[in-house]
Amino acid sequence: MNGVTILMYHQVGKFPPMEEHRATYCDVGRFARQMWYLHTFGYNVLSLDRLVEIFTKHLPIPPRSVVLTFDDGYQNFLTHAAPVLKRYNFPAIVYVVPSLIGKKAEWLALDGHPTPAMLTADEIVQLRSMGFDIGSHNLVHERMAEKPYEQQFHEALESKKALEKIIDDEVRHFCYPYGSHNIDSLKAVQQAGYTTAVTCQRAAATPDFDLLALPRKAISFGDTLPGFIFKLHTKNMPKTPPLKRTMDDKA
Ligand SMILES: [Zn+2]
Repeated sequence: MNGVTILMYHQVGKFPPMEEHRATYCDVGRFARQMWYLHTFGYNVLSLDRLVEIFTKHLPIPPRSVVLTFDDGYQNFLTHAAPVLKRYNFPAIVYVVPSLIGKKAEWLALDGHPTPAMLTADEIVQLRSMGFDIGSHNLVHERMAEKPYEQQFHEALESKKALEKIIDDEVRHFCYPYGSHNIDSLKAVQQAGYTTAVTCQRAAATPDFDLLALPRKAISFGDTLPGFIFKLHTKNMPKTPPLKRTMDDKA
């Protein structure tokens, strides 16, 4: 079946050559070429709200459909990614961790990475006014599947409230930190009122997936333009069956 490729980015910017931990970096020059490619070859870059509409109303999926997602809420989204995206008027979503707003990405230091600045509340408002979507990356950047349901629910709900206060708008979309999720996580984000949630499971999204466990494909530092194109068109089937709520879960 024709699907939607949801691309996962983290940091976009200028980085020194690196051998390790490359999965969460994307050189801004490469990023610009990737967006140019999507534009030039007629890809349909959708917002998540549009994806929801297509999937729930069983509308035909436009050919070459892509969604652009950016995890963690780094300041370099505003300085490096946003200008490129605005050049093509591409929609995109930034998943923010409320407890990290205006701070530095200290957890990266554990792996020996630099600790870049995270977006401030003012910058998040600025991004919203530029037309970008703001989603929740949970209250804290921790693995949800290791926590009891009540805590997962509390964190999902409180992060939604905190972000809605900042942007003065509804926050409908969620992203599981590290992709960590179990069936309780799906129930928790549903109960908190989210419409979608994304994982790190690698596949193309189709209406067969639960909207609260949508798969993504990561773009990393090593992806040249041919590598990027390869990822767009391959790895469409999940390696393991994705989690799905049953009718009971949805009650
Ligand atoms: Zn993250």
